[in-house]
Amino acid sequence: MASPTETITALVLRRTKLGESDVIVTLLTKDGSLRKAVAKGARKPTSSFASRLELFSVATLLLAQGRSLDIVKEARLIEGNSDLRSDFILSSAASPLVELLSKATFEDQPTPRLFDLAVRSLKSLGETHENPLTITLAALLKTLAFLGFRPTFQECIECGSALDLAHQGVQSLSYFDGGSVCSQCTPHHETTLLDAQMLLWCHVLLYSTLDEVCTFQIPDQTLASAFRFVNEWINLHLGIRMRSITFLFKNILPMS
Ligand SMILES: [Zn+2]
Repeated sequence: MASPTETITALVLRRTKLGESDVIVTLLTKDGSLRKAVAKGARKPTSSFASRLELFSVATLLLAQGRSLDIVKEARLIEGNSDLRSDFILSSAASPLVELLSKATFEDQPTPRLFDLAVRSLKSLGETHENPLTITLAALLKTLAFLGFRPTFQECIECGSALDLAHQGVQSLSYFDGGSVCSQCTPHHETTLLDAQMLLWCHVLLYSTLDEVCTFQIPDQTLASAFRFVNEWINLHLGIRMRSITFLFKNILPMS
């Protein structure tokens, strides 16, 4: 009897070699849940999968139920995103998003809007070569929000008072309690002093559209400190050490 089949649309988050010529693809499906499947023979140059199941590509897949993992029977490419693989900076900028998605999403646990956000963010990265890391940062912050880990920047997490980040040098923030804390409330929280301009940029990125984000010019040092903040936030709230952000600090972002 033939195995049951299913058609899904998905983004390739990761490829892992299996045996001589197979690949396990880790996918984010349209409903925002994680899926893994085996693409048999995908590493053979003659395979029809070779160009359709690359990292960062979006495809419609026909899956057949396998014993442990589903098997990819057919793949139709929707978005190749080949620029994101061929360009070092773009590839480095796209990696944190797929790393976060591959480690923070789960099978059979849909997260609405995550897939559309990821696909649109990668498309923006491929089209806008000006400030790729700004797009990455916005995509990471929005992904965290959709996953339920949205930081609060512009108001105190305890009393709700508005904070004027634009006119101050530093701002107290509690990683554990979820965001900025006003001076009256700081005694009740374990806080860290962070650059207020950086937090303001994070707030702006979180609430701007990707088209708006593409027009922003964030100073390199502020961008680097924002990546340090997001990295710490992901580590503390999700327990994920982001290798791709460590890579950015070693190769692209200024260290201090
Ligand atoms: Zn307060």
